[in-house]
Amino acid sequence: MFELPEFVTLARQMNETLTGKIVRRGSLGNSPHKFVWYNRTPEEFARLTEGKIVGPAHARGKWLFVPLNPTYLLLFGECGGRLLYHPAGSALPDKYHLWLTFEDGSSLTALTQMWGAMELYEAGLEQDRQYLKGMRPTPTDAEFTFRYFSGLIDELRTGEKRSAKALLTQDQLIPGVGNAIAQDILFRAGLHPRPPISDLSAQQRQRLYDALQATLQEAVAKGGRNDEVDLHGRPGGYVRLMDSRAAGQPCPACGTVVEKIQYLGGACYFCPHCQV
Ligand SMILES: [Zn+2]
Repeated sequence: MFELPEFVTLARQMNETLTGKIVRRGSLGNSPHKFVWYNRTPEEFARLTEGKIVGPAHARGKWLFVPLNPTYLLLFGECGGRLLYHPAGSALPDKYHLWLTFEDGSSLTALTQMWGAMELYEAGLEQDRQYLKGMRPTPTDAEFTFRYFSGLIDELRTGEKRSAKALLTQDQLIPGVGNAIAQDILFRAGLHPRPPISDLSAQQRQRLYDALQATLQEAVAKGGRNDEVDLHGRPGGYVRLMDSRAAGQPCPACGTVVEKIQYLGGACYFCPHCQV
């Protein structure tokens, strides 16, 4: 699944590649899939996108906003899979859930894995959508400072006990972070996934904040994770330290064997020596 670094990369590449292109035809794909969240019929989508001009895209959390000017905005979110650019004359994939062809013969296709939103809004109305309305600050927002982060932990201390992994991956508390990048954030912070955040010392909070920012910045700079592909079908350059390949192997920092546990709806990989 795409997380913040992959969406930021896709937005940047769309701005290099698609901005200013005119939509000749919009289609909601050739492969019905009940877990794609559409908000338009195929006919509406074709009618409303025709002749629109692609504006500057941006990402926020696990959402990608692509203006189709005037008036509309194409929203991708909470998805994985493929968002691919196809130069004029190149072959399309066999299956896709959305297809825009442009006046110059090039096109964009999207194929989800698992699930995901592909919705078209009158620009601005997408902000009322579930998950976007009231979205908390994301790590790429200027307001996501250490003071904010520490305040978030204070706020959560009063409710049910949340673990470090829960802080990073549940309920969009930190939008854009998912189970994949969270593993490396916890490793760099030297934190085990399970202990409650209410027990974190001030120093541990700072380490977690610094690891969060450093890991996301590196992943963005490297064009996303290497187990996802970018707009041009190329894998990203960020290789995770803690993933399925690391399990049973020596920790890159201390050599202790990396462990795997199932926790909070997904596998966790961690070093039992470095992460306490
Ligand atoms: Zn270690």
